Amino acid sequence: MKIDTLCVQAGYEPKNSEPRVLPIVQSTTFAYDSAETMGKLFDLEEAGFFYTRLANPTLDTVAKKIAALEGGVGAMLTASGQAASLISITNICKAGDHVIASAAIYGGTFNLFNKTLRDLGIDFDFVSPTSTADELEKFFKPNTKAVFVETVTNPSLDVIDIELFANAAHAHRCPLIVDNTFATPVNCRPFEWGADIVVHSTSKYMDGHAVALGGVVVDSGNFDWTQGDYPMLTTPDETYHGVVYTEQFGKAAYITKCCTHLMRDLGCQQSPQNAFLLNLGLDTLALRMERHCANALKVAKYLEGHDKVESVNFPGLESNPYYELAQKYMPKGTCGVISICIKGGKEGAVRFMEGLKLAKIVIHVADARTCVLHPASTTHRQLTDEQLVDAGIAPNMVRFSVGIEDPDDIIEDIAQALECV
Ligand SMILES: *Cc1c(COP(=O)(O)O)cnc(C)c1O
Repeated sequence: MKIDTLCVQAGYEPKNSEPRVLPIVQSTTFAYDSAETMGKLFDLEEAGFFYTRLANPTLDTVAKKIAALEGGVGAMLTASGQAASLISITNICKAGDHVIASAAIYGGTFNLFNKTLRDLGIDFDFVSPTSTADELEKFFKPNTKAVFVETVTNPSLDVIDIELFANAAHAHRCPLIVDNTFATPVNCRPFEWGADIVVHSTSKYMDGHAVALGGVVVDSGNFDWTQGDYPMLTTPDETYHGVVYTEQFGKAAYITKCCTHLMRDLGCQQSPQNAFLLNLGLDTLALRMERHCANALKVAKYLEGHDKVESVNFPGLESNPYYELAQKYMPKGTCGVISICIKGGKEGAVRFMEGLKLAKIVIHVADARTCVLHPASTTHRQLTDEQLVDAGIAPNMVRFSVGIEDPDDIIEDIAQALECV
C-alpha cells in the first residue's frame, strides 16, 4: 500500500463486532486466570499484555502503524521525542562507549548527548552535517557504537546526506540512527537509504495538532548486530532468564530489547490517551504534509524577494545549498519549516515576531497553526556562541513554522509584520 493509505489504514485490523476506530485501552493492568500464563509472559516465552509500562494494545497498534509508515520491522512509542532519542542510544551503548552525532541536531538532543549521557560515561563527538566521507572517517574509534543524525535539522534546516553517513557507519559495523521528525515518513523514508534505526518526536507533524507529547523508536531490522560489538544484544540478558535477543528475536532484536529492557527500567511510556490522539493525527499526516510543504514554498518565495529579509533558508528553494540533496531524499518536499534572518539584527527579528497577528510566538513547531520562534533566545539559549554557529543559528534568525491555513492569509500577516521592522 502507498504511504497515504498506510497513514489511514495501517496498524489496526478490527475483528467482527470490534470498534471500527482504535479504542483507548485506559488500563494499567490486564487480567489472567493462571499464574503460569503470566509467568510465561514475564520470561518472554509468550506475547501478551500485563502492564501498560511494558505494553498496551492502543500503544502497540499505533506503533505498528508508524513501523509500517517507515517500512520497519517494529516500533515502540515513548512519552516524548527526548525519551525516544535517549533509548535509541542507551539500547546499544553503555559507559565507555562512543557515539558520533551531527552537530546540527535539535537543541534538546544536543543537551541530552553532550551533558546527560556524557555524565553517564558515554562519549560523543559532534561533526558537521556537511562532513565528507574522509572527514567522518577520522572520528571513528574502536569503541564507536552508533552514528546519529537528523534528516532535516530543527531549526537550521540542514539536509543530511543519509547514504554518506550510513556508508561511513556501516564500514565500522555501526548502525545509523536518524531523527526523522521534520521530514516524516511521508516525505522521507531513511531505511530506504541505509539508515538502521529511526526516531521521531511525534509531538510535531505526526500529532500535527499540538495536543499530545510523544516519541517513537523504529527498527528497520536490517542491521546485523552479531557482526559488530553489541554484547547487550548478543549475550544473555540475566534479567530475562538469559534471553539472547539476536537469537530469540532475530531481525527484531533491537526493538524487542527497547520494549522489554529499557521501557521496563526507564518507564517513559506514552499514555494510551496520547497514543489515540497521535493516531488521529497520523490519519491525515500525508494530506497535511502536502499542504505544509506547498504553503512553505509559497511563503519562502515571497520572503526571498523581500527587502526587510536578509536571508531565507528553505531547502525547497533552488537557491538553497541543500536543494539537490533535498530533491534526492525528499522529492515531495522537506517540511513546513523555514528559517529566516531579518534585517536589523536580533531587535529586527523580535519586532517582526511581535508584529505578527495570525502567527503566534510558541516554543512548538510543526503543527497545523502557523507559529514562530526565536531559537537564539529560547530553545538554544544554553549554547555558547561557538556552539550556536556550529548548530547554524544566527542571533537574527526566526524559525517560521508554516501551517495549513490559506497561504495568502499567512503571507498577508508576514507582509504587515515586516512593516514593523
Ligand atoms: C521536538 C524535537 C525533539 C524532542 O521531542 P519532544 O517530543 O519535545 O521530547 C527531538 N527531535 C526533533 C527534531 C524535534 O523537533
